[in-house]
Amino acid sequence: MPVSHNPLKQKIEFVKGVGEARALLLKKELGVGSIEDLINIFPFRYDDRSVFVLLKDVRGGDSVQIKGTLISLNKVKGRGRTRLTGMFKDPSGLIELTWFQGAKWIADTLKLNHEYILFGKVNVYRGKRTIPHPEMELASKAEKQSAFLPVYASTEALTKKNVGMRTRRNIVQNIFNILRPEHFPEVLPAKVMDKLKLCTPYQAYRWIHFPQNETERSHAANRLKFEELFFLQLRILQVKKQREQKLKGIVFSQVGNYFNRFYKEKLPFELTGAQKRVVKEIRADMGSNIQMNRLLQGDVGSGKTIVALMSMLIALDNGYQACLLAPTEILAQQHFQSITESLKGLGLHIAFLSGSVKGKTRKELFRFLKDGHIHILIGTHAILEDPVQFKKLGLAVTDEQHRFGVAQRAKLWLKNKDVPPHILVMTATPIPRTLAMTTYGDLDVSVIDELPPGRKPVKTLHKTEADRMRIIKFMKEEIAAGHQIYIVYPLIEESATLDLENLQQGYEELLNYFPLEDYKIAVVHGRMKAADKDMEMQRFAAGRAQIMVATTVIEVGVNVPNASIMIIENAARFGLSQLHQLRGRVGRGAEQSYCILMTKSTGLTHYARERIKTMCRTNNGFEIAEVDMKLRGPGDLEGTQQSGVLELKIANIASDAKIMQTARHFALEILSEDADLDSPEYIKTKAHLDKIKHRSQSWGRIS
Ligand code: ADP
Ligand code: MG
Repeated sequence: MPVSHNPLKQKIEFVKGVGEARALLLKKELGVGSIEDLINIFPFRYDDRSVFVLLKDVRGGDSVQIKGTLISLNKVKGRGRTRLTGMFKDPSGLIELTWFQGAKWIADTLKLNHEYILFGKVNVYRGKRTIPHPEMELASKAEKQSAFLPVYASTEALTKKNVGMRTRRNIVQNIFNILRPEHFPEVLPAKVMDKLKLCTPYQAYRWIHFPQNETERSHAANRLKFEELFFLQLRILQVKKQREQKLKGIVFSQVGNYFNRFYKEKLPFELTGAQKRVVKEIRADMGSNIQMNRLLQGDVGSGKTIVALMSMLIALDNGYQACLLAPTEILAQQHFQSITESLKGLGLHIAFLSGSVKGKTRKELFRFLKDGHIHILIGTHAILEDPVQFKKLGLAVTDEQHRFGVAQRAKLWLKNKDVPPHILVMTATPIPRTLAMTTYGDLDVSVIDELPPGRKPVKTLHKTEADRMRIIKFMKEEIAAGHQIYIVYPLIEESATLDLENLQQGYEELLNYFPLEDYKIAVVHGRMKAADKDMEMQRFAAGRAQIMVATTVIEVGVNVPNASIMIIENAARFGLSQLHQLRGRVGRGAEQSYCILMTKSTGLTHYARERIKTMCRTNNGFEIAEVDMKLRGPGDLEGTQQSGVLELKIANIASDAKIMQTARHFALEILSEDADLDSPEYIKTKAHLDKIKHRSQSWGRIS
């Protein structure tokens, strides 16, 4: 191999055992060009050399390691090319081996009646067990290697073209034969290394590929995970800082009459500690000269609206207007009504805008908005449209953020001339803390982690068809007591017809017990026109229907405090966060509320059972979000696509929360002393950070 001052940068083809053809293949299949690229693909597990399975215990689908003897080899002429089969024997039995390609070459390299160590995956074909394309290694040679053998993610093409796991390991081993500690410069700051006592990068790379024992493996993993998350946090925090420098904000220097009068005269209850803290955070943000971009997270029913309202009053106190966007007409209406009610007597003009506001009313509204007559505008997406112009928009709040895209939020920025309004984004979908640190790491996050006093937690029960009669009886009692009930059917994505059928069937069965002469039932499903949906929702909200039968289209955020039961049919079909959102529709009044999860009595998958169990165990949205992330993996959660967490090579934001916290802590500490990492002690850290920034294209989208 040619000498170079930095072997890590060498092309992979010069490594012993690679060559031109394999280099091309590695490039194509794994995107690997240099030595550095290859050693940055870490094993996802290890095979333990010391453990062998007995053939009598081997079943189809197993990945196995067997010690035994090759007793025969046979070339079988097929229609296409020649196939090679062999018989492999261990003290407990026999198994067939098959090679579909390279028959001649393989036959030449294998030795009969020698002891081998074999790795492979067992197939069952027509009732017979066989191991296709096993990896074979003479036992006499194998014993010299380390006990933990790395297993890397591979591709079919690699395996077929004879770059199987054994070859791959050999290549990596050959690489480490030439690498020395000095080829791995330390990129972590000395003060971090001193405090955390991590292993060196050379050790980390060596040990992650070829650990002698568990201690080495875990030291290596710790160091590599920390490094990865530390640089991730440095990037996020720098993006955030750059944004703050770019975007000057309107300074709300005072809290005035509107806020104070509302607080003293109108507020119908004492704010919870969490609400007070969050209002303070928002006040501080809007009082500085940086544009606020704050995410307000709070579980369903935690009282986010009042926080939004008080923030808007601060804007008004400083001579600015405010707006509140809700994702649906009904939710916007509800906000409009309750906010108008709360602010009565303060002499404020509050207006409502949605697609349904038309003609003269609409024109007039635009005029009053433009001349500053309207203080607060509440509405739907319609607010984003171009003709909607404010005189001085100081604060824009969006409710239930997950329904709004980033692009829509960006439109709000342009609703004020010169300086963008402050932005407050509210969401009831809790995000696990680690994910928030990345996904929203560049936003400021406030959390309302406390419910108003006196709330009775919703009781959640898991029931099956056998309980149906008792549930009907219970429903009747609740209705007789003046309460209302939701029944929700899953949305079946593959088939809009099927979910309508489900709902219709359920509705008809319901009529047997709740005849229309005695009961009123509202129905909402995805195929209805928006106006009809709203009408049915209103009917239920106003108490003119006792039961609401719906697919999941029932609106998030809707507040019907009199509803005390949520029955979720086919609950196994719902995701955890959906179940939690739905449950949040009840438990809003003073009465004890119930959430009943209906499922089949048998045959639930492990995941479905975990979801149901979690729902019955806890009402805490954050806890539920954590479980959700563990069950589904971060890739499926909202917001992860842009966050960079999916590009992680070794750290896992679900299971490495502690390391993430430590990494963020150090990143914050270092940046607060030296924002641009200009001091000599950070030269290597800074260079590495620049290198990573360069490498990752998708990162740009977050900023
Ligand atoms: P969400 O956070 O889900 O949007 P809301 O803002 O709709 O919750 O509040 C839910 C209910 O709790 C409302 O009826 C609201 O008036 C009430 N509420 C909010 N804060 C408090 C509080 N500090 N004490 C008592 N009730 C409160
Ligand atoms: Mg709300």
